Amino acid sequence: MELSGLQIFKYLPAAKKDENSNCKKCGCPTCMAFAIKLAKQNAKIENCPYVPNELKEIYEISCKQPQNIVEIQGLKIGGENVLYRHEKTFINKTAIAIIVDRSEINWQEKLKRIENFEITRVSETLKIDLVIFKNFETLPQLKNLRTISFDDFKKLPLKEIIDEKFSQTSQELIKIRKKAILEKDGNYAEPVYVYFKYTNDINTLCAKASYYLCKYANMLVFENFNEALISTLMTLRQNIFTDPQKPLQVESKIYEFNNPDENSLIFMTTNFALTFYAVANELESLPVPSYLIVTPAEGMSVLTAWSAEKFTAAMVAKTLKKFDFANKVKNRKIIIPGLLAHMKEELEEEISNAGLDFKIVVGTIEAFAINDFVKNLAISK
Ligand code: SF4
Repeated sequence: MELSGLQIFKYLPAAKKDENSNCKKCGCPTCMAFAIKLAKQNAKIENCPYVPNELKEIYEISCKQPQNIVEIQGLKIGGENVLYRHEKTFINKTAIAIIVDRSEINWQEKLKRIENFEITRVSETLKIDLVIFKNFETLPQLKNLRTISFDDFKKLPLKEIIDEKFSQTSQELIKIRKKAILEKDGNYAEPVYVYFKYTNDINTLCAKASYYLCKYANMLVFENFNEALISTLMTLRQNIFTDPQKPLQVESKIYEFNNPDENSLIFMTTNFALTFYAVANELESLPVPSYLIVTPAEGMSVLTAWSAEKFTAAMVAKTLKKFDFANKVKNRKIIIPGLLAHMKEELEEEISNAGLDFKIVVGTIEAFAINDFVKNLAISK
């Protein structure tokens, strides 16, 4: 386990109130400051001449990297430090590899589909991480994909678990990760991959692979290649392997959908990426063009931003002024998220105080309802 600053501090002179307390020889103003730096591994333990051997021993263990990192052509596998994402963050996302076996009848067609597979989600373009060629004398050359022979792959310092029974595989994965992280047991430091043999039962395969992706496979290797399966896993993976302390956000600006003009609909939301993409998908599929004003809210969703005072009437007025939006459009109605209905009057007042003449229309609570909302708007016009 990693040591906290407080746990380290208990061993230092200031905690024991001895004569060397806060002597500054380590370069820090206090023992507590040194303890905090040590906990973050931003200082050397030798810098304090009064560190007892007991602390040196437990600190050395706490600094040990619990899981090795294996690198394949820039693809990093392993190196995890925590059991749960919310404790810090997961480091290297679970890699997804596909086996292409020359003995398969349709291997060429399968390979073509693998090469063509690409999804874009939350501004990230996702492709297969690794293609493993089995039974090939010469490896086919692929553009933009990492490749390795099956024999070379098997030589990598990775632990293999062949998936047969879910209960067995899941327990094995949990045991290995706990041994590595909690006990820093070197026998369990190798990153782990789960190997899935070919199956026609894609639903069960998807359920099992999703579980192992969360707990605790560093890599998933499939004999199957199924676009729906891989898209599902990549979407799940993107959610699990984001830094919980850094919300996903998009740029705060005015987005255009279907070539809007000065009379087009105007929507507003915050720059939380998932909210943005949910709304953007709906606006793209509307039969009418529209604008989407995305306000800066440090990547927070609408209600969170409001409660944290990151979506305020003053900020909305400032955003409209910054983009000089009043001079770009004749439409004077801005549709805000339904969750912010209570802000209608406040927004209109602040916008008016800023010398702008926009009115506020309360929109839908959920993005999927935008289409019906717009139809009703057209009817009531
Ligand atoms: Fe405290 Fe730093 Fe002095 Fe050690 S060297 S006793 S940590 S102030």
